Amino acid sequence: MARRAERHRAAMVRYLRAEGIADERVLAAMGEVPREAFVPRAVAGAAYRDVPLPIGLGQTISAPTVVALSAAALQAGPDARVLEVGTGSGYGAAVLSRCHRSVVTIERHRELAERARRTLAALGYAGIEVRTGDGALGAPDRAPFDGIVVTAMAEGGPPPALLEQLGPGAALVCPVGHRGTGTLKRYRSGAVTDLGAVAFVPLVTGS
Ligand code: SAH
Repeated sequence: MARRAERHRAAMVRYLRAEGIADERVLAAMGEVPREAFVPRAVAGAAYRDVPLPIGLGQTISAPTVVALSAAALQAGPDARVLEVGTGSGYGAAVLSRCHRSVVTIERHRELAERARRTLAALGYAGIEVRTGDGALGAPDRAPFDGIVVTAMAEGGPPPALLEQLGPGAALVCPVGHRGTGTLKRYRSGAVTDLGAVAFVPLVTGS
């Protein structure tokens, strides 16, 4: 089983390269983190397909290309302190933690946050703090961050509090759109870059 997962991961990394992901640290991380451990057993057989998968409470783990694209777009170094909004399964946080010094990740569903915490602890990932709450408010007590990744679709634009918690020159990667479909965007030093069309569950704030 472990061998087969390893083969599937290697194939996934080849696929990510072919799709244009060139960041070696992100590729190495995705070649290491066992995606099957972050999804319900019923869908574990599809863990290495390039699709989002259900993780309960109406939420999904993002497709591997989207995780890789978002992580690579941060362009943050190994010493970076990173914030993720939308922990979900914890998979994205695990990948980020393999690329950077520390990760704070925030999930609004307590049950998902607890499950992610357990999965990450069982696999031995260090340097990740999982918080429950409204991630649109960020983590002011830990700001500024060297990079911020939002993994849920923001309406209109990224939450202003997150832009305020970026350090100088740091990037915020956030899908922006309506009802789950839109564009992945990077905000850095006042410039906005379009990274492609994406589908995400909505960012739910203020409730
Ligand atoms: N990065 C995740 C994918 C998560 S899907 C992974 O690797 O599995 C998006 C997640 O964002 C969902 O779990 C959803 O509950 C959460 N979410 C939506 N709005 C949020 C908010 N305002 N604050 C924190 N989490 C939020």
